[in-house]
Amino acid sequence: MTPKSSRSAANNISLVLNTVLGNDRFDRGPVNVGELAIEYTRQISPNSHIEHVVAEDLPGCEGALVPGETQPRRWAIMYDRKQNAGRRAYTVAHELGHFVLHRNLVDDDPEFDGGFYCTKEAVEHGIGRDIEKEANEFAANLLMPLDDFRRFVPSDSLAGLTRLGEAAERYGVSLTAATLRWLEYTTTRAMVVASVDGFALWAKSSEAAFKSGRFLRTKSELFELPAASFAARKAYGNESLEGVRQKAGIWFPEPVVEMCMRTDKYDFELTLLHFEGKAPAFQAEDEFEDSYTQFFKIGAPG
Ligand SMILES: [Zn+2]
Repeated sequence: MTPKSSRSAANNISLVLNTVLGNDRFDRGPVNVGELAIEYTRQISPNSHIEHVVAEDLPGCEGALVPGETQPRRWAIMYDRKQNAGRRAYTVAHELGHFVLHRNLVDDDPEFDGGFYCTKEAVEHGIGRDIEKEANEFAANLLMPLDDFRRFVPSDSLAGLTRLGEAAERYGVSLTAATLRWLEYTTTRAMVVASVDGFALWAKSSEAAFKSGRFLRTKSELFELPAASFAARKAYGNESLEGVRQKAGIWFPEPVVEMCMRTDKYDFELTLLHFEGKAPAFQAEDEFEDSYTQFFKIGAPG
């Protein structure tokens, strides 16, 4: 099997789905990724396809792609049963990515004898080995194709949490996943910060925000959100969804519009920052890849 780009592998499937279901397919609902995993792998690998997509107790793991003992090999995708529908779709798409891109490793590399077991960090952010990043990109591209997302939220428009919540519903993913996907292509300056009790778990900037110096870099220290922020004040409601303008000096040396909501399980806060106007001059270091910052590991499910 030749190595494939995760993006083109997912885009090829999207093109088939567009042909079969129409370019407006997301108006009728998100990708049914469990069904797709079985149907699609039957077509590309009739003798060794995915046979089951099942809920399991997977302590410490979000999902797994596991080969069976029999030959020819049949496969199963497992997802942790505690996940809600949005996270489940992302997990199943991630494991389908491992099947499409990496299943040969099970025969070629003794480390993968038992299959692929993926942590929450790997599924949500592609953290870990390169294959985790690839499976993560595959999942984002499959569930949230950019052509459709750009029609839903144009590249040059600032999306609030309400609109991003509508996108999450359209693609059947979590608000976090939809927000991270939007940050990948928007040309506006925006940033998202996930926090627990006012301390940052991770943060990510759009490219334009990053290049204007608007990112949180602290990699090993705790970052405490400003005392005036919604997350620090635990003030969630209509006002935090609509957003307030925070003056210069609160978050950054320029004003920002801040929005915040707690996630559906109330286990972390998602803060969205919109920067206004033209970017201030900044000597950008060319390390946009690093615009995702993880602060510290905490046992918070999310
Ligand atoms: Zn994985």
